[in-house]
Amino acid sequence: MTQPVTGSVYLIGGGPGAADLLTLRAVRLLQRADIVLYDRLVSTEQLAFAPQAEKLYVGKALGENSQARQSRIHRLLVGYARAGRMVVRLKGGDPFVFGRGGEEGLELSRAKIPWELVPGISSSIAAPGIARIPVTHRGVSSAYAVFAGQSAQGIQTRDIDWEIAARIPTAIFLMGVRRLPQIVAELVAHGRSPDTPIAVIEKATTPEQAVLIGTLDDILTQMDGVSSPATIVVGPVVKLREELHSILTNPTVVSYDSLAPQTVYPFS
Ligand code: SAH
Repeated sequence: MTQPVTGSVYLIGGGPGAADLLTLRAVRLLQRADIVLYDRLVSTEQLAFAPQAEKLYVGKALGENSQARQSRIHRLLVGYARAGRMVVRLKGGDPFVFGRGGEEGLELSRAKIPWELVPGISSSIAAPGIARIPVTHRGVSSAYAVFAGQSAQGIQTRDIDWEIAARIPTAIFLMGVRRLPQIVAELVAHGRSPDTPIAVIEKATTPEQAVLIGTLDDILTQMDGVSSPATIVVGPVVKLREELHSILTNPTVVSYDSLAPQTVYPFS
């Protein structure tokens, strides 16, 4: 008896937003995929690397809770792989950074389906980087940590160890825009000085990118109109942006698609 053919699943990190921040490996696999299951933070430009593939949006459905959604994704991944398809699961940033990639990997392993992780550029470092804020810097910050700022994925802010968040030289918060008042209050209550610099980097690497700079003391007064996705960085590294950013006049980048110079998205 011949063995049934089992397909495989690639859990792929799509990077922070710009299509040319996908890895080469991601693009090569997208070009071969039979089906792509993707999330809200994945762009049509990224999906264009898989013109031949069926595309299935697996973002949250109206009224569906996140656990029901996750179970649905697990069933789809296993189902398509068992049907012999080459499945790409494309997620924003890196699948293993607050992306539930680990849960999907566990499900596939338990179902004995071959799968691979393709790391992506996480917005946790890409968003600060694109705003010219290094997450570590000799003599300024020797460590960084990434925290889930809100409960969108079942992680409550009360689960954050605020002692650590207030002490780590660079504290990065994802999913934190709506909870910024609590984040600021907890950091200050746990000993972080109110004049600590903070940056909010919104929609990094997309045309709507915006950067907001302040201190724990005054950032909340500037947050009008800021929306998700945004990455929050707290610590003295934020100050480095002043100098790293100062010679920025008319920068150009090479676009992946055209290899023609393009103006980089301006940010104030
Ligand atoms: N796995 C992803 C994170 C998923 S959680 C990664 O590694 O990047 C989603 C959060 O990521 C958002 O709420 C936001 O905090 C951050 N994020 C995603 N895309 C972003 C972008 N383009 N700019 C700034 N932050 C972003």
